[in-house]
Amino acid sequence: MSVRQPATIAVRAGIDSDASHGAVAPPVCLSSTFSFAEFGKPRRHDYSRSGNPTRDLLAEALADLEGGKAATVTATGMGAITTVLQLLRRDDRLVAPLDCYGGTFRLFDAWAKKGAFQLEWVDFQDEQAWQRAVPGARMVWLETPSNPLLRITDIERVAALAHRHGGLVVADNTFLSPALQNPIALGAEIVVHSTTKYINGHSDVVGGAVIAADQGLGEELAWWANCVGITGGAFDSWLTLRGLRTLAVRMRAHQDNVESLIELLERHPAVRRIHYPGLATHPGHLIARRQQSGFGAMLSFELYDGEAAVRRFVDGLETISLAESLGGVETLIAHPSTMTHAAMSAEDQARAGLAPGLLRLSVGLEAVEDLGADILRALDRAESVSQRVKHHGAR
Ligand code: PLP
Repeated sequence: MSVRQPATIAVRAGIDSDASHGAVAPPVCLSSTFSFAEFGKPRRHDYSRSGNPTRDLLAEALADLEGGKAATVTATGMGAITTVLQLLRRDDRLVAPLDCYGGTFRLFDAWAKKGAFQLEWVDFQDEQAWQRAVPGARMVWLETPSNPLLRITDIERVAALAHRHGGLVVADNTFLSPALQNPIALGAEIVVHSTTKYINGHSDVVGGAVIAADQGLGEELAWWANCVGITGGAFDSWLTLRGLRTLAVRMRAHQDNVESLIELLERHPAVRRIHYPGLATHPGHLIARRQQSGFGAMLSFELYDGEAAVRRFVDGLETISLAESLGGVETLIAHPSTMTHAAMSAEDQARAGLAPGLLRLSVGLEAVEDLGADILRALDRAESVSQRVKHHGAR
Protein backbone atom coordinates (compact mmCIF):
# COMPACT_ATOMS: atom_id res chain seq x y z
CA MET A 1 0.00 0.00 0.00
CA SER A 2 1.21 3.52 -0.74
CA VAL A 3 2.51 5.67 2.13
CA ARG A 4 -0.38 7.46 3.80
CA GLN A 5 -0.54 10.76 5.62
CA PRO A 6 -1.01 10.68 9.42
CA ALA A 7 -4.55 12.08 9.19
CA THR A 8 -5.48 9.24 6.83
CA ILE A 9 -3.88 6.60 9.06
CA ALA A 10 -5.82 7.90 12.07
CA VAL A 11 -9.17 8.20 10.29
CA ARG A 12 -8.91 4.83 8.54
CA ALA A 13 -7.65 2.80 11.55
CA GLY A 14 -9.64 -0.47 11.45
CA ILE A 15 -12.18 0.86 8.92
CA ASP A 16 -13.45 -1.94 6.64
CA SER A 17 -11.53 -4.57 8.61
CA ASP A 18 -14.58 -6.68 9.50
CA ALA A 19 -14.59 -9.84 7.38
CA SER A 20 -17.85 -11.24 8.85
CA HIS A 21 -20.34 -8.50 7.95
CA GLY A 22 -18.41 -5.84 6.09
CA ALA A 23 -19.04 -3.38 8.93
CA VAL A 24 -17.33 -0.11 8.05
CA ALA A 25 -16.72 0.93 11.66
CA PRO A 26 -14.82 -1.90 13.37
CA PRO A 27 -16.91 -3.83 15.90
CA VAL A 28 -15.64 -4.14 19.45
CA CYS A 29 -14.50 -7.66 20.28
CA LEU A 30 -15.25 -8.12 23.97
CA SER A 31 -14.53 -11.82 24.25
CA SER A 32 -11.97 -12.59 26.94
CA THR A 33 -11.03 -15.86 25.24
CA PHE A 34 -10.91 -17.46 21.79
CA SER A 35 -11.45 -21.08 20.83
CA PHE A 36 -8.58 -23.12 19.41
CA ALA A 37 -8.92 -24.19 15.76
CA GLU A 38 -8.02 -27.71 16.95
CA PHE A 39 -5.93 -29.35 19.65
CA GLY A 40 -2.53 -27.62 19.83
CA LYS A 41 -3.59 -25.01 17.25
CA PRO A 42 -4.55 -21.62 18.68
CA ARG A 43 -5.90 -19.03 16.27
CA ARG A 44 -4.29 -15.58 16.01
CA HIS A 45 -5.76 -14.74 19.41
CA ASP A 46 -6.20 -17.09 22.35
CA TYR A 47 -6.75 -14.86 25.40
CA SER A 48 -7.46 -11.12 25.58
CA ARG A 49 -4.75 -10.24 28.09
CA SER A 50 -2.20 -11.47 25.54
CA GLY A 51 -3.95 -10.22 22.41
CA ASN A 52 -7.31 -8.83 21.37
CA PRO A 53 -8.50 -7.91 17.85
CA THR A 54 -9.83 -4.45 18.81
CA ARG A 55 -6.72 -3.61 20.82
CA ASP A 56 -4.56 -4.77 17.87
CA LEU A 57 -6.26 -2.23 15.57
CA LEU A 58 -5.37 0.60 17.94
CA ALA A 59 -1.80 -0.68 18.40
CA GLU A 60 -1.23 -0.90 14.64
CA ALA A 61 -2.50 2.64 14.11
CA LEU A 62 -0.32 4.05 16.91
CA ALA A 63 2.80 2.23 15.63
CA ASP A 64 2.12 3.67 12.16
CA LEU A 65 1.51 7.19 13.45
CA GLU A 66 4.73 7.21 15.50
CA GLY A 67 6.78 5.63 12.71
CA GLY A 68 7.50 2.59 14.90
CA LYS A 69 7.53 -1.13 14.12
CA ALA A 70 5.32 -2.34 16.98
CA ALA A 71 3.07 -0.96 19.70
CA THR A 72 1.55 -2.32 22.88
CA VAL A 73 -1.64 -0.79 24.24
CA THR A 74 -1.76 -0.66 28.03
CA ALA A 75 -4.49 -0.02 30.59
CA THR A 76 -3.07 3.39 31.60
CA GLY A 77 -0.22 5.72 30.73
CA MET A 78 1.49 4.61 33.95
CA GLY A 79 1.06 1.03 32.68
CA ALA A 80 3.01 1.99 29.53
CA ILE A 81 5.79 3.47 31.68
CA THR A 82 5.79 0.39 33.95
CA THR A 83 6.13 -1.83 30.88
CA VAL A 84 9.24 0.06 29.74
CA LEU A 85 10.82 -0.18 33.20
CA GLN A 86 10.74 -3.99 32.91
CA LEU A 87 13.71 -3.68 30.54
CA LEU A 88 15.97 -2.51 33.38
CA ARG A 89 18.08 -4.68 35.69
CA ARG A 90 19.19 -3.75 39.19
CA ASP A 91 22.60 -2.42 38.13
CA ASP A 92 21.29 -0.44 35.16
CA ARG A 93 21.20 3.32 35.50
CA LEU A 94 18.08 5.23 34.51
CA VAL A 95 18.60 8.93 33.83
CA ALA A 96 15.35 10.87 34.13
CA PRO A 97 14.26 14.52 34.17
CA LEU A 98 13.74 15.88 37.67
CA ASP A 99 10.80 17.96 36.41
CA CYS A 100 8.71 15.18 34.85
CA TYR A 101 5.03 14.33 35.47
CA GLY A 102 4.45 13.70 39.19
CA GLY A 103 3.20 10.12 38.69
CA THR A 104 6.30 9.22 36.67
CA PHE A 105 8.47 10.80 39.36
CA ARG A 106 6.74 8.77 42.08
CA LEU A 107 7.06 5.48 40.18
CA PHE A 108 10.76 5.92 39.34
CA ASP A 109 11.54 7.01 42.88
CA ALA A 110 9.63 4.15 44.52
CA TRP A 111 11.09 1.43 42.29
CA ALA A 112 14.64 2.75 42.58
CA LYS A 113 14.24 2.71 46.38
CA LYS A 114 13.18 -0.96 46.14
CA GLY A 115 16.38 -1.68 44.22
CA ALA A 116 14.85 -2.33 40.78
CA PHE A 117 17.44 -0.05 39.09
CA GLN A 118 19.78 2.86 39.80
CA LEU A 119 18.18 6.27 39.31
CA GLU A 120 19.76 9.61 38.52
CA TRP A 121 17.60 12.73 38.31
CA VAL A 122 18.91 15.27 35.84
CA ASP A 123 18.01 18.79 34.89
CA PHE A 124 17.86 18.55 31.09
CA GLN A 125 17.88 22.34 30.86
CA ASP A 126 21.43 22.23 32.18
CA GLU A 127 23.63 21.25 29.23
CA GLN A 128 26.62 20.24 31.36
CA ALA A 129 24.45 18.18 33.71
CA TRP A 130 22.92 16.00 30.99
CA GLN A 131 26.18 15.71 29.04
CA ARG A 132 27.73 14.32 32.23
CA ALA A 133 24.83 12.01 33.16
CA VAL A 134 23.87 10.40 29.83
CA PRO A 135 27.07 8.45 28.99
CA GLY A 136 26.84 4.97 30.45
CA ALA A 137 23.12 5.19 31.30
CA ARG A 138 21.20 2.09 30.22
CA MET A 139 18.07 4.18 29.68
CA VAL A 140 17.52 7.90 29.21
CA TRP A 141 13.98 9.12 29.87
CA LEU A 142 12.75 12.29 28.19
CA GLU A 143 9.51 14.18 28.59
CA THR A 144 9.34 16.99 26.06
CA PRO A 145 7.47 19.27 26.37
CA SER A 146 7.58 18.56 30.09
CA ASN A 147 4.61 18.50 32.43
CA PRO A 148 3.78 21.16 33.64
CA LEU A 149 6.53 23.66 32.71
CA LEU A 150 6.62 22.92 28.97
CA ARG A 151 10.40 22.64 29.01
CA ILE A 152 11.90 21.37 25.79
CA THR A 153 14.71 18.84 25.41
CA ASP A 154 16.59 18.33 22.15
CA ILE A 155 15.78 14.66 21.49
CA GLU A 156 18.24 14.32 18.61
CA ARG A 157 21.24 15.58 20.60
CA VAL A 158 20.48 13.54 23.72
CA ALA A 159 19.86 10.41 21.60
CA ALA A 160 23.15 10.85 19.72
CA LEU A 161 25.09 10.96 22.99
CA ALA A 162 23.13 8.08 24.56
CA HIS A 163 23.65 5.89 21.49
CA ARG A 164 27.40 6.49 21.47
CA HIS A 165 27.43 4.80 24.87
CA GLY A 166 24.89 2.06 24.13
CA GLY A 167 21.90 3.64 25.96
CA LEU A 168 18.22 3.43 25.06
CA VAL A 169 16.19 6.63 24.72
CA VAL A 170 12.55 6.75 25.75
CA ALA A 171 10.36 9.80 25.07
CA ASP A 172 7.03 10.53 26.71
CA ASN A 173 5.14 12.19 23.85
CA THR A 174 1.86 12.71 25.72
CA PHE A 175 1.82 16.53 25.54
CA LEU A 176 2.01 16.70 21.74
CA SER A 177 0.65 13.37 20.42
CA PRO A 178 2.03 11.82 17.23
CA ALA A 179 0.27 14.56 15.26
CA LEU A 180 2.86 17.14 16.40
CA GLN A 181 6.04 15.22 17.27
CA ASN A 182 7.58 11.87 16.33
CA PRO A 183 10.46 11.05 18.70
CA ILE A 184 11.45 7.87 16.82
CA ALA A 185 12.36 9.96 13.77
CA LEU A 186 14.58 12.02 16.11
CA GLY A 187 16.42 8.97 17.46
CA ALA A 188 14.32 7.58 20.34
CA GLU A 189 13.97 3.78 20.57
CA ILE A 190 10.72 3.92 22.51
CA VAL A 191 7.79 6.34 22.72
CA VAL A 192 5.24 6.24 25.52
CA HIS A 193 1.84 7.88 25.65
CA SER A 194 -0.89 8.42 28.11
CA THR A 195 -3.63 7.88 25.48
CA THR A 196 -5.97 9.25 28.15
CA LYS A 197 -4.95 12.64 26.79
CA TYR A 198 -4.91 13.87 23.16
CA ILE A 199 -4.99 10.44 21.49
CA ASN A 200 -8.41 9.60 22.89
CA GLY A 201 -9.18 13.27 23.34
CA HIS A 202 -12.57 13.09 25.05
CA SER A 203 -11.73 12.52 28.73
CA ASP A 204 -13.71 9.30 28.86
CA VAL A 205 -10.98 6.63 28.77
CA VAL A 206 -7.79 6.03 30.75
CA GLY A 207 -5.18 4.26 28.64
CA GLY A 208 -1.60 4.12 27.48
CA ALA A 209 0.67 2.90 24.72
CA VAL A 210 4.31 2.04 24.21
CA ILE A 211 5.71 2.14 20.68
CA ALA A 212 9.07 0.66 19.69
CA ALA A 213 11.29 1.64 16.79
CA ASP A 214 12.39 -1.95 16.40
CA GLN A 215 10.36 -5.18 16.07
CA GLY A 216 12.44 -7.17 18.57
CA LEU A 217 12.18 -4.49 21.23
CA GLY A 218 8.45 -4.17 20.50
CA GLU A 219 8.01 -7.91 21.08
CA GLU A 220 9.95 -7.77 24.33
CA LEU A 221 7.72 -4.94 25.57
CA ALA A 222 4.55 -6.78 24.51
CA TRP A 223 5.83 -9.89 26.35
CA TRP A 224 6.29 -7.89 29.53
CA ALA A 225 2.91 -6.12 29.29
CA ASN A 226 1.20 -9.52 29.01
CA CYS A 227 3.38 -11.05 31.72
CA VAL A 228 2.76 -8.21 34.19
CA GLY A 229 -0.91 -8.04 33.12
CA ILE A 230 -1.28 -4.38 32.18
CA THR A 231 -2.61 -4.57 28.64
CA GLY A 232 -5.58 -2.36 27.74
CA GLY A 233 -9.22 -3.46 27.64
CA ALA A 234 -11.11 -4.02 24.38
CA PHE A 235 -13.84 -1.46 24.99
CA ASP A 236 -11.32 1.19 26.03
CA SER A 237 -9.34 0.44 22.85
CA TRP A 238 -12.46 0.79 20.76
CA LEU A 239 -13.33 4.17 22.31
CA THR A 240 -9.74 5.32 21.86
CA LEU A 241 -9.81 4.29 18.19
CA ARG A 242 -12.92 6.44 17.80
CA GLY A 243 -11.20 9.40 19.44
CA LEU A 244 -8.03 8.88 17.42
CA ARG A 245 -9.85 9.40 14.10
CA THR A 246 -10.15 13.14 14.72
CA LEU A 247 -6.66 13.64 16.20
CA ALA A 248 -5.25 15.77 13.36
CA VAL A 249 -8.22 18.10 13.17
CA ARG A 250 -8.50 18.37 16.95
CA MET A 251 -4.83 19.27 17.35
CA ARG A 252 -5.19 22.03 14.76
CA ALA A 253 -8.26 23.42 16.48
CA HIS A 254 -6.71 23.15 19.96
CA GLN A 255 -3.72 25.15 18.77
CA ASP A 256 -5.93 27.76 17.03
CA ASN A 257 -7.42 28.59 20.43
CA VAL A 258 -4.08 29.19 22.15
CA GLU A 259 -2.83 32.44 20.62
CA SER A 260 -5.47 34.87 21.82
CA LEU A 261 -5.43 33.35 25.33
CA ILE A 262 -1.66 33.88 25.51
CA GLU A 263 -2.12 37.52 24.46
CA LEU A 264 -4.63 37.97 27.22
CA LEU A 265 -2.30 36.43 29.83
CA GLU A 266 0.63 38.53 28.60
CA ARG A 267 -1.29 41.76 29.07
CA HIS A 268 -2.64 41.06 32.54
CA PRO A 269 -0.77 42.38 35.62
CA ALA A 270 -1.75 39.35 37.75
CA VAL A 271 0.50 37.10 35.61
CA ARG A 272 4.15 36.81 36.55
CA ARG A 273 5.32 34.51 33.72
CA ILE A 274 4.00 32.27 30.96
CA HIS A 275 5.45 28.95 29.85
CA TYR A 276 4.61 28.14 26.23
CA PRO A 277 7.15 26.89 23.67
CA GLY A 278 5.49 28.92 20.92
CA LEU A 279 6.66 32.16 22.53
CA ALA A 280 9.90 33.47 21.00
CA THR A 281 11.09 34.21 24.55
CA HIS A 282 10.69 30.57 25.67
CA PRO A 283 14.19 29.05 26.20
CA GLY A 284 13.27 25.97 24.13
CA HIS A 285 11.53 27.85 21.33
CA LEU A 286 14.10 27.16 18.61
CA ILE A 287 14.40 23.47 19.46
CA ALA A 288 10.60 23.17 19.53
CA ARG A 289 10.41 24.83 16.11
CA ARG A 290 12.79 22.24 14.75
CA GLN A 291 11.59 19.03 16.37
CA GLN A 292 7.82 19.66 16.64
CA SER A 293 5.35 20.36 13.87
CA GLY A 294 3.28 22.56 16.18
CA PHE A 295 3.65 24.12 19.61
CA GLY A 296 0.67 22.27 21.09
CA ALA A 297 -2.15 23.51 23.28
CA MET A 298 -0.72 23.03 26.75
CA LEU A 299 0.61 26.01 28.62
CA SER A 300 1.27 27.04 32.17
CA PHE A 301 1.47 30.40 33.85
CA GLU A 302 2.42 31.71 37.24
CA LEU A 303 0.36 34.21 39.17
CA TYR A 304 1.82 36.80 41.52
CA ASP A 305 0.64 36.21 45.08
CA GLY A 306 1.04 32.39 45.01
CA GLU A 307 -1.64 29.95 46.15
CA ALA A 308 -3.94 32.73 47.43
CA ALA A 309 -4.15 34.08 43.86
CA VAL A 310 -4.69 30.57 42.50
CA ARG A 311 -7.65 30.11 44.81
CA ARG A 312 -9.18 33.43 43.71
CA PHE A 313 -8.57 32.47 40.06
CA VAL A 314 -10.23 29.05 40.15
CA ASP A 315 -13.12 29.89 42.52
CA GLY A 316 -15.77 31.22 40.17
CA LEU A 317 -14.64 29.77 36.84
CA GLU A 318 -17.73 29.34 34.66
CA THR A 319 -16.57 27.58 31.48
CA ILE A 320 -13.22 26.06 32.44
CA SER A 321 -13.10 23.04 34.80
CA LEU A 322 -10.64 22.67 37.66
CA ALA A 323 -9.47 19.10 37.09
CA GLU A 324 -6.44 16.87 36.58
CA SER A 325 -5.70 15.45 33.12
CA LEU A 326 -5.42 17.24 29.80
CA GLY A 327 -5.88 16.85 26.06
CA GLY A 328 -9.67 16.56 26.04
CA VAL A 329 -12.09 18.66 24.01
CA GLU A 330 -12.97 20.60 27.17
CA THR A 331 -10.62 23.16 28.73
CA LEU A 332 -9.13 22.07 32.04
CA ILE A 333 -7.04 23.94 34.52
CA ALA A 334 -4.89 22.29 37.21
CA HIS A 335 -2.77 23.47 40.10
CA PRO A 336 0.27 21.17 39.76
CA SER A 337 1.69 21.54 43.25
CA THR A 338 -1.53 20.36 44.98
CA MET A 339 -2.91 18.17 42.17
CA THR A 340 -0.87 16.44 39.41
CA HIS A 341 2.46 16.74 41.24
CA ALA A 342 1.24 16.41 44.83
CA ALA A 343 3.17 13.13 45.19
CA MET A 344 6.43 15.10 45.06
CA SER A 345 7.85 16.51 48.30
CA ALA A 346 8.04 20.30 48.72
CA GLU A 347 11.83 20.12 48.10
CA ASP A 348 11.43 18.03 44.93
CA GLN A 349 8.75 20.42 43.69
CA ALA A 350 10.99 23.40 44.33
CA ARG A 351 13.90 21.67 42.54
CA ALA A 352 11.60 21.00 39.59
CA GLY A 353 10.62 24.68 39.46
CA LEU A 354 7.00 24.24 40.55
CA ALA A 355 5.91 27.50 42.15
CA PRO A 356 2.80 27.67 44.38
CA GLY A 357 1.29 30.23 41.99
CA LEU A 358 1.64 27.97 38.91
CA LEU A 359 -1.45 26.90 36.96
CA ARG A 360 -1.50 24.48 34.02
CA LEU A 361 -4.01 25.03 31.24
CA SER A 362 -5.14 22.43 28.72
CA VAL A 363 -6.78 24.55 26.05
CA GLY A 364 -9.90 22.87 24.69
CA LEU A 365 -12.18 23.39 21.74
CA GLU A 366 -14.83 25.69 23.18
CA ALA A 367 -15.36 29.06 21.45
CA VAL A 368 -12.25 31.04 22.30
CA GLU A 369 -14.35 34.11 23.19
CA ASP A 370 -15.93 32.16 26.07
CA LEU A 371 -12.56 30.87 27.26
CA GLY A 372 -11.08 34.35 27.08
CA ALA A 373 -13.95 35.88 29.05
CA ASP A 374 -13.65 33.20 31.75
CA ILE A 375 -9.87 33.68 32.03
CA LEU A 376 -10.12 37.47 32.10
CA ARG A 377 -12.67 37.39 34.94
CA ALA A 378 -10.45 34.91 36.80
CA LEU A 379 -7.34 37.05 36.34
CA ASP A 380 -9.19 40.11 37.61
CA ARG A 381 -10.20 38.11 40.70
CA ALA A 382 -6.63 36.83 41.13
CA GLU A 383 -5.06 40.27 41.05
CA SER A 384 -4.26 41.22 44.62
CA VAL A 385 -5.36 44.52 46.14
CA SER A 386 -1.76 45.77 46.30
CA GLN A 387 -1.21 44.94 42.61
CA ARG A 388 -4.41 46.71 41.67
CA VAL A 389 -3.30 49.82 43.52
CA LYS A 390 0.12 49.61 41.81
CA HIS A 391 -1.36 49.32 38.33
CA HIS A 392 -4.42 51.49 38.51
CA GLY A 393 -3.42 53.95 41.24
CA ALA A 394 -5.14 54.33 44.64
CA ARG A 395 -8.85 55.04 44.28
N1 PLP B 1 2.85 10.95 31.17
C1 PLP B 1 2.41 12.22 31.25
C2 PLP B 1 3.22 13.32 30.60
C3 PLP B 1 1.23 12.52 31.90
O1 PLP B 1 0.81 13.80 31.96
C4 PLP B 1 0.49 11.47 32.50
C5 PLP B 1 -0.78 11.73 33.21
O2 PLP B 1 -1.14 12.86 33.47
C6 PLP B 1 0.98 10.16 32.41
C7 PLP B 1 2.16 9.94 31.73
C8 PLP B 1 0.25 9.01 33.07
O3 PLP B 1 -0.85 8.64 32.33
P1 PLP B 1 -2.19 7.97 32.94
O4 PLP B 1 -2.81 8.96 33.85
O5 PLP B 1 -2.98 7.64 31.73
O6 PLP B 1 -1.75 6.73 33.69
